[in-house]
Amino acid sequence: MLRFVLVMTVTTATAFAQSEVAVLCQGYWQSEDDAVAQLRRMGRTWTTRVDWEGRARLIRRQILRGSRLDPLPARTPLNARIHSVRDEDGYSVANVSFEPFPGYCVGGNIYRPRGRQGGFAGVLSPHGHYRGDDGGGRFRASAQIRHATLARMGAVVLTWDMIGWGDSGHGGWKHGHPQALSLQLWTSIRALDLLLEQDGVDPNRIACTGSSGGGTQTFLLTAVDDRVKASAPVAMVSAHFFGGCKCESGLPIHKTAGLETNNAEIAALCAPRPLILVSNGDDWTKNSPWVEMSYIRTVFAAYGRQDVCESVHQADELHDYGPSKRAAVYRFFAKHLALSDPPEEAGIKIEPHAAQLAFNDDHPRPAHALPANAVVKW
Ligand SMILES: [Zn+2]
Repeated sequence: MLRFVLVMTVTTATAFAQSEVAVLCQGYWQSEDDAVAQLRRMGRTWTTRVDWEGRARLIRRQILRGSRLDPLPARTPLNARIHSVRDEDGYSVANVSFEPFPGYCVGGNIYRPRGRQGGFAGVLSPHGHYRGDDGGGRFRASAQIRHATLARMGAVVLTWDMIGWGDSGHGGWKHGHPQALSLQLWTSIRALDLLLEQDGVDPNRIACTGSSGGGTQTFLLTAVDDRVKASAPVAMVSAHFFGGCKCESGLPIHKTAGLETNNAEIAALCAPRPLILVSNGDDWTKNSPWVEMSYIRTVFAAYGRQDVCESVHQADELHDYGPSKRAAVYRFFAKHLALSDPPEEAGIKIEPHAAQLAFNDDHPRPAHALPANAVVKW
């Protein structure tokens, strides 16, 4: 598990007004007690649903401004290329590449239900900072099992690389890219565009789930894009831990002179759309049912929708997206996306990562692809 020391950096962000000093809240930026006090402070800034919605707009704007996505870049052609479809037991899997903006080529996979008729739900599945001999990221066995199972339940599933992972890493891109947060949040938005283009996907049944750094991508996308209709960040939402990577907290999205927030409140921007937090006793989500959820429930209560806000806490479990966490999310998505009951995870073929790459000798990167680690201008 990654552990990070407290880092506090004060920077004057060029995208902010001269007088607006932004603070980077990174890693364990504040103590657990300070987090409780901050949630109380934040709770005193609003009372009614209308108050909350005003605050939510400010938070959403701060996320987009802080991540240099205000205004959003132009939506350019995705140039999606889907190839190498494999038919498996109850699902199919294909490799895909797309361009969130011209020349920035992202690799991923699309899982689809087989033998089913009618409209499908759509699930976005960002991965976290998991490395390993299996290729890590979207190639991990636990990820392949999750994607295939959701497809068997009736969802079209799209997973794609973090910068520096998978196809991106093989292309020479590094995760330490200074624009990692901007690039990944914009890529999440464009991944949702791509998912909605897939045959049979019902725009009213779109969800997002990921764990750890994939949990961060999940709650940031859910906060800024209301096309996400249900959200399941796993092993990540914490009021005292802000994410220790540039792609999570390397830009001033949490604290400016005018507004302080934290990842628990950002997750609450899901309301009144269904939200489940899956937490465990081994990481920064260890207080989730008593601290983070107590604040988030007040937001759902303002809508009279506490019924769609759930918490599953596994005190004896670790920081991962293991079987019991997957089971909780399958059940939640079955309920809110009108999916079939989750089947057994047996019979899913775990592919070697070479089989899942979007770019290979038969499917090379396009000639206009940006060179690795280019600074992207939009
Ligand atoms: Zn990262």
